[in-house]
Amino acid sequence: SDRAFGVCFYDVEMEREILREQKIKHELARVAAGDENNGLFLQYQPILDLKSNRVCGFEALARLNSEQLGLVSPLEFIPIAEETKLIVPVGWNVFLQAFRFLKKLKEKGFDTINVFINVSAIQVLAENFTDDLLEMIREAEVCPENIGIEITESVFSMDYQGINRVLGNLRDFGLHIAIDDFGTGYSSLARERELNVDCLKIDKFFVDKLLTLSAEDAITADIISMAHRLGHCVVAEGVEHEEQKEYLLRNGCDKIQGFLVARPLDEEAALELIRSQAGTGPEST
Ligand code: C2E
Ligand code: MG
Ligand code: MG
Ligand code: MG
Repeated sequence: SDRAFGVCFYDVEMEREILREQKIKHELARVAAGDENNGLFLQYQPILDLKSNRVCGFEALARLNSEQLGLVSPLEFIPIAEETKLIVPVGWNVFLQAFRFLKKLKEKGFDTINVFINVSAIQVLAENFTDDLLEMIREAEVCPENIGIEITESVFSMDYQGINRVLGNLRDFGLHIAIDDFGTGYSSLARERELNVDCLKIDKFFVDKLLTLSAEDAITADIISMAHRLGHCVVAEGVEHEEQKEYLLRNGCDKIQGFLVARPLDEEAALELIRSQAGTGPEST
């Protein structure tokens, strides 16, 4: 009957889901075990400084290339990594790869380019996180001043004090701290005052609103001016259209990131982009 078919179909779908999740866990466990041929790699999305109109840094974005599943989005595998706590070793692998990229930039003389790395609250709260990170920075021979940490504002619903303390320590060592997806969650601008951060990344949700001339326009302008009053730098995420860029420029936003500038790039393409802009002066772009 139809009903029997429906139930059967549902089971098949469920089973497929569970199987897929198992495969992802298996891939993540290989990363955690230090398997050289694991499928974790990074892409780098340029961050454009609006004042100079030059790329001043990159955000490192994790990708998982599974032999069986093909390319898996971080929106799918990061939550699984968090649930299984595999995010801690996987996160160290992300740091390692990002630092290698940073080292290459440094060796080529591009020592003002910063790399921002996404971290989960579970990583930040893991034992010895600060010491282990500083040790890895030393071993990788990169400068703390070239490293940024992105953490989503939803973490402030967790161990706010604990996380804020770690972020403060990292800042003392020269790292930059950015609140990711700002405006979507828990923190308020009033609370930003107590946060040990340098930078707010305005979520794509608000950047999208800039296209429809509604009240949200003012909200974005308010976020920018309030952040500046607190001494924070402002990055707008998910900028896809010239009109958005112009609005953000007019309202004093410091930096933008999005498909308008570039999609996330493989390491070679990211290096090539920096090489190509090195030949041009600040005014020539
Ligand atoms: P996020 O940190 O907010 O990163 C921005 C996401 O927006 C990226 O998605 C990026 O590819 C996408 N994006 C950038 N510009 C545009 C645009 O103009 N239009 C549109 N439609 N999208 C744009 P992605 O790479 O799929 O990453 C998704 C999320 O996964 C990230 O959001 C971040 O929260 C998380 N993630 C990625 N890598 C890591 C990691 O190494 N560790 C942790 N803990 N989370 C990560
Ligand atoms: Mg991010
Ligand atoms: Mg973001
Ligand atoms: Mg996001």
